[in-house]
Amino acid sequence: MINVDPAELEKFSALAHRWWDPNSEFKPLHDINPLRLEHIDRLAGLNGKRVLDVGCGGGILAESMAARGATVTGIDLGEKGLKVAQLHLLESGLQVDYRLTPVEALADAEPAAFQVVTCMEMLEHVPDPAATVRACAACAAPGARLFFSTINRNPKAWLFAIVGAEYVLRMLPRGTHEYAKLIRPSELATFCRDAGLEVTGITGMTYNPLTRTYALGRDASVNYILEARRPVP
Ligand code: SAH
Repeated sequence: MINVDPAELEKFSALAHRWWDPNSEFKPLHDINPLRLEHIDRLAGLNGKRVLDVGCGGGILAESMAARGATVTGIDLGEKGLKVAQLHLLESGLQVDYRLTPVEALADAEPAAFQVVTCMEMLEHVPDPAATVRACAACAAPGARLFFSTINRNPKAWLFAIVGAEYVLRMLPRGTHEYAKLIRPSELATFCRDAGLEVTGITGMTYNPLTRTYALGRDASVNYILEARRPVP
């Protein structure tokens, strides 16, 4: 059985043609990208590394990591998003190896092959996020760095990430995120440890609606990135 929810894929497919429009529904991904890219590069050192981006969508992060000198493989199960990602390479002149494959299958085909694994804004859309984390861990080489980002689950996260973003500010289409699928940092940390990973940090990502800017910091109450490492045996 594949760990995927077709209704979730459809949400992204329906909008895929607007993926690279910085004023589209994907604006938040464009806006946070410089911050998360810098964070990943600082902790993992992207230049020359073999990187896997799981749930890459239209390739916003994947391309930016390739531009930093990484050899990037991007995987997703959304066909339209991947097609957009592939086409965008013609515009950017960058190289990314895009594949329509589940991470569980890649874990079997290329175990321990990647020095950096990123899985951003995807875990809250899959039926079994723990299984996704396990597969990401299996793709990671000993000593590899892993980065997972998602949305916390608490009343404030509901108010900001769902009510605020989808109903008040209308940054995202209604129904993009479901409360029950949001993941607490402690839960994600448990998924990581159960997958044999060492959790090295949690970084909050905050949005200020007045200045319309994002920042990384200690406040992980809504959006956050969890950093992990596959131990060297
Ligand atoms: N990671 C990208 C895109 C996030 S949007 C970024 O942060 O810029 C969420 C992506 O997850 C979509 O492209 C969607 O197709 C993908 N996705 C959802 N469920 C998936 C699954 N089970 N396997 C792979 N990709 C999935």
